[in-house]
Amino acid sequence: MTWSAIAGLVVGSFLNVVIYRVPRGLSVVAPRSACPTCHTPIAARDNIPVISWLALHARCRSCGAAISVRYPLVEAATALAFALIAWRIGPHPQLAAYLVCGASLIALALIDVEHLRLPTRVVYVSTALVVALLLASSAWLDEWHRSVVAVLSAVVWLALFGAIHTVSPRALGLGDVRLAPLLGFALGWLSIGAVIVGFFLANLVGSVVGIALIAMHRLERRQPVPYGVFLAVGAGIAILFTVPMLSYWPALRPLLG
Ligand SMILES: [Zn+2]
Repeated sequence: MTWSAIAGLVVGSFLNVVIYRVPRGLSVVAPRSACPTCHTPIAARDNIPVISWLALHARCRSCGAAISVRYPLVEAATALAFALIAWRIGPHPQLAAYLVCGASLIALALIDVEHLRLPTRVVYVSTALVVALLLASSAWLDEWHRSVVAVLSAVVWLALFGAIHTVSPRALGLGDVRLAPLLGFALGWLSIGAVIVGFFLANLVGSVVGIALIAMHRLERRQPVPYGVFLAVGAGIAILFTVPMLSYWPALRPLLG
């Protein structure tokens, strides 16, 4: 878990680059990170996750411009997510797939909040990586039934989200439909229970938050909502907590197979 948390800090630092650059159509590899105010490249010693931000008192070393608290928060959140995923999945081959899945969902949720869209580049690369890693895990463990359930689940999620999008395109955008197979596959590989919990939670969280925002007059009824955030939260909770939740009801234990 400690190693996963440290890996999470480093990956979180990369996610900051993805979250800033991908929606702006910029490359994630070049040029290297620079201060957005004075454009001075950031030295390696000033690019250590969380620690550099604290050591520099949230200011650029060259020009003194404020550096957003969002950067260390994304790094810390990714570290926490990685530690939780490592605790839940354990030292098994599929751990890599769920770490990639967690990192993707953090990046996508934050891009969705800011830009109200889920970039296809991030969605497709994440889906390809997670599916490849889970198929490899099935081969390694000789547990092909998991991948069969995962494919079926991905198809069902795509069909359901496609249907919801057709009925209500404002609430659920095309980006959310494109994300559905990844979530369906990742949850299906774990268990049928995770598929049901994830689908239920994503839509429950979305409805409750949406209704609350409309009631507080923070959101117009017709305004688009960053539904990808709710999908990410629902799927995340399902990956981490389906087993502890369903274990309470003996009748539901078969769903964990
Ligand atoms: Zn600067």
